[in-house]
Amino acid sequence: MAESLAHFEENLQILKTLIVDSTMTVAFTGAGVSTLSGIPDFRSAGGVYSSQWEGYDVEEVLSISFFRRHPDIFYRWGNEFMYQLERSTPSIIHTVLALLEEKGYLDGLFTQNIDMLHKKAGNKKYWEIHGSAEHHSCTGCNAHYSYEVIAPIVRKGEVPHCTRCQSVIRPDIVFYGENLNSAVLNRAVEMFKQAKLCIVLGSSLVVQPAATLPSYALAHGADLVIVNAQTTSYDRAATLRFTDLAQLGEALLPWVQGLKKKRSLVSHS
Ligand SMILES: [Zn+2]
Repeated sequence: MAESLAHFEENLQILKTLIVDSTMTVAFTGAGVSTLSGIPDFRSAGGVYSSQWEGYDVEEVLSISFFRRHPDIFYRWGNEFMYQLERSTPSIIHTVLALLEEKGYLDGLFTQNIDMLHKKAGNKKYWEIHGSAEHHSCTGCNAHYSYEVIAPIVRKGEVPHCTRCQSVIRPDIVFYGENLNSAVLNRAVEMFKQAKLCIVLGSSLVVQPAATLPSYALAHGADLVIVNAQTTSYDRAATLRFTDLAQLGEALLPWVQGLKKKRSLVSHS
């Protein structure tokens, strides 16, 4: 479903102008950006999430009630899908977003992904809406553990337990049946309200809060750019619409590399 080349080039030029002219740009990334890095999409339709794993619905395995009853089964699933992340490297889109931030053209990045790749790429102003595999905590005493400590235990086929109180350790991801972190959610709403340009990458904007965040930006007259293989309910409202993440990344990278650092005239705090 690649756009015709002329159409793509035309939209690319408009996007570059929007990025340079915007005084406040926010990006939102979903599973499509991770699949570019070879990470399976385990939350959205068509990904692992819609399938079965060893006779379980993946959605069930990723629910908090299931985790509490069967942490051993969750971690067996995790060993296949969540605790191999050090093998993954940032994709061209991760790199473009990190460079845009470094050069002052990206004010905030929100992601549905838990794979730590925005951090690995070098972004600093990013917020993980569904939590992250980076952080773990004890379900008994709340002691914190890092991915680096937990992953080798999981890969040995063991359930990680707290060294202080022996309770089961959990990843600080948002399981099904849990609420999103309200501080992260509020920040996302605020930034989408203030944004002049919102770029959505690799998300079909179906699950909350992705389904509503663009509406805050549109209500204030912001430009919305959507880059996603599948259609979204915001396509008609979008200023620009691209379908191929890799194609756009390849086209943007050399341009972003050549961009001069922007001098910040306004502080967004
Ligand atoms: Zn503990």
